[in-house]
Amino acid sequence: MICLYCHSRIREEADLITMFKRQKPLCMPCRKKLSLWRPGERCASCHRLMDRDECPDCRFLAENYRRPGKIMCMMDYTGEVKMLFHRYKFTKDAALSEVIAMFLKCRFGEYDMSIPIPVSAARMEERGYNQTSMVLRAAKVPYRDILATDKAERQSEHSRRARLTAPNPFHLKDDWAVSSLAGKRVLVVDDIYTTGITVHQALEKIYTLKPCAADVLTFSKA
Ligand SMILES: [Zn+2]
Ligand SMILES: [Zn+2]
Repeated sequence: MICLYCHSRIREEADLITMFKRQKPLCMPCRKKLSLWRPGERCASCHRLMDRDECPDCRFLAENYRRPGKIMCMMDYTGEVKMLFHRYKFTKDAALSEVIAMFLKCRFGEYDMSIPIPVSAARMEERGYNQTSMVLRAAKVPYRDILATDKAERQSEHSRRARLTAPNPFHLKDDWAVSSLAGKRVLVVDDIYTTGITVHQALEKIYTLKPCAADVLTFSKA
């Protein structure tokens, strides 16, 4: 068997359990490298590494946005995980969605709808796929694209204050009636959570549809 990530041959005796569990295998060294978390205290909400008592990101978000219920995070955006996302997003290696999907641990069944953060038409043209929905597809998780965005540039290039005063880059697709999410539980899904502003801007639009609960799942935390 060949590892989906490093393409080396997997020694079957060491990975027998893995082999039976998954059709698409990941070798143990890759599994270990991609499961590493930087040591240290973390924010209980956004999982940011903490060097003080209060999380500055969550404080800023709480002052400016309505917050989600909980934020679930699967991987630490460092070392090999950074390489994985780089290969996946910028070298158009779409098959890596299968690797990221292996790390998803979330009770998707508890939600009425999973909503991926959209990419702009320009980015879609360039990359060929939405990196977030592609992972959900690999994990066989149903989702709905109810959001769209026109912003092609990287959001992280702007300061937090600048983003606060700029218009929300997301909009609800026209066919989404206000009643369709009322009283429902939704899960907003993103690939990399940095300051959290992107997800909170998407939530701002989703909250107008009056869901009873909204949680966030991010594949990795920078
Ligand atoms: Zn491997
Ligand atoms: Zn935080």
